[in-house]
Amino acid sequence: MDTLGRNDSLERGTKRKYAGDWPEMRGPAKAATASRGDDYYRALYAEALDFRLLGQRDPEFKAVLGRGSYLDFADPRSVMQLTKTLLKLDFGLLVDLPTDRLCPPVPNRHNYILWLKDLLDSSSPLRADSRGTARGVTGLDIGTGASLIYPLLGCAQRPSWSFVATDVDAKSLAYARKNAALNNLQSRIRVVGRATTDRLIPLDELGLAAVDFVMVNPPFYTSAAELDDLARQKSRPPNSACTGAPVEMVCAGGEIGFVRRMILESLVLSERVQWYTAMLGKQSSLEVLVSVLRDHGVANYAVTAFVQGSKTRRWALGWSFGNSRPSLSACRGCEPAAGKKLLPPPTEAAVATWTASRVDVAQLERSICDAMESLDLASWTWDKSLYRGVGFVDSNVWGRAYRRKKARERERGGACFQSEETVGDGSSYPQQEEAERRVCQDTSQCSFGFSVSVRNDADEVAVMARWLQGNDYAIFESFTGFLRKSIGLN
Ligand code: SAH
Repeated sequence: MDTLGRNDSLERGTKRKYAGDWPEMRGPAKAATASRGDDYYRALYAEALDFRLLGQRDPEFKAVLGRGSYLDFADPRSVMQLTKTLLKLDFGLLVDLPTDRLCPPVPNRHNYILWLKDLLDSSSPLRADSRGTARGVTGLDIGTGASLIYPLLGCAQRPSWSFVATDVDAKSLAYARKNAALNNLQSRIRVVGRATTDRLIPLDELGLAAVDFVMVNPPFYTSAAELDDLARQKSRPPNSACTGAPVEMVCAGGEIGFVRRMILESLVLSERVQWYTAMLGKQSSLEVLVSVLRDHGVANYAVTAFVQGSKTRRWALGWSFGNSRPSLSACRGCEPAAGKKLLPPPTEAAVATWTASRVDVAQLERSICDAMESLDLASWTWDKSLYRGVGFVDSNVWGRAYRRKKARERERGGACFQSEETVGDGSSYPQQEEAERRVCQDTSQCSFGFSVSVRNDADEVAVMARWLQGNDYAIFESFTGFLRKSIGLN
């Protein structure tokens, strides 16, 4: 059960499985983050919570601690105070929570927001700003609950984010509105009541052309009996703190039914939402839902796990109809028991690594740029300060078939692939070339986008390739093969 009533996880602290690495982040962007910027939020709950210290920092929390800084997780007052204290100290948020609704464990909910940030930032159309802190983002939180936890956490750490938050439960809606007001976030969080039979993603009804993401922590269980059985298996004390009302815990088909409904709606809405996401209580649900996506031909998806303590693990699934590929850590954030076959294809590859003393980085940079410039890419830009280049192309221009075609064009005297040359009347490109280039002008529509970067650590230098755009993994694999050869490796 995903409540603070499941007492052991917070006590042992949260190990964030989802660490999120930033192979593409170098230099200035890191320095620009404020004291409560992304790095601050990323580091939260990486260590076990120290209740004694929390008590010192918040007298209201100290008041619920027993001897030896013991926190009684069977006491709703203690559990609720822990949530309030963490929201206040770590995020500057205030909440009012009813005793008969879910009391969200903050570290787990924060994990979901961290993952979303990585998913969105790493597949942002603004390639230059890979952390995307300035990007205006709208999210839809389905079933926000009384706490309004996700919109509050999202707005607290990203000033450019806003939310629409739905629920079907009148009491939760009333508290959610109150919690938005308590934090003066009414202008950024719109709370909307829905009926259980309504559509889950009501973009048209809400007058929204598009949103950046949809998120949900759905009711996990198919019936009250399933809920009771599982609670007994975990030998949770009956009526332990904040177990949640049936409307929060149970729905037709449980979490699979709920997310399947989302998938079906997403097939119609398609790119009106960049990322559809859902948290899942069971790994088996993840397996079922990945199959549903694949059956519908959705190939751009992401899976991850949120780990709390050693016992409680939550899963998450995201999918997109867009062609932007998220970072490796965002799309393959876990290794499911069912094995790698459940995972989407990797979006990053270490093309080559060397011991730092054995490589001339300037020469390596030149080899990469020479190789890229020798290709008929739709665009290629190298950022010297980041040691990173980004390129787009519409087909495999490094393959033998393309090179043969190019040679034939040359033989016929056409210059359509020779972008550097002037021809005929002295204009830069003949008409045919103009046509070729125009096709590629909007790089966001190119069938393949990538970045190549040189990672220069103290003792190791690596050339990394990142698949940024497109739906064909084979082209990324073949590109990394070309790159390896170009820099003198096989
Ligand atoms: N997001 C909160 C609450 C999750 S519990 C948290 O993570 O703590 C699931 C929530 O979904 C409940 O508040 C429940 O009332 C709501 N819900 C159930 N069916 C729904 C539906 N069809 N549309 C919107 N919300 C729904």
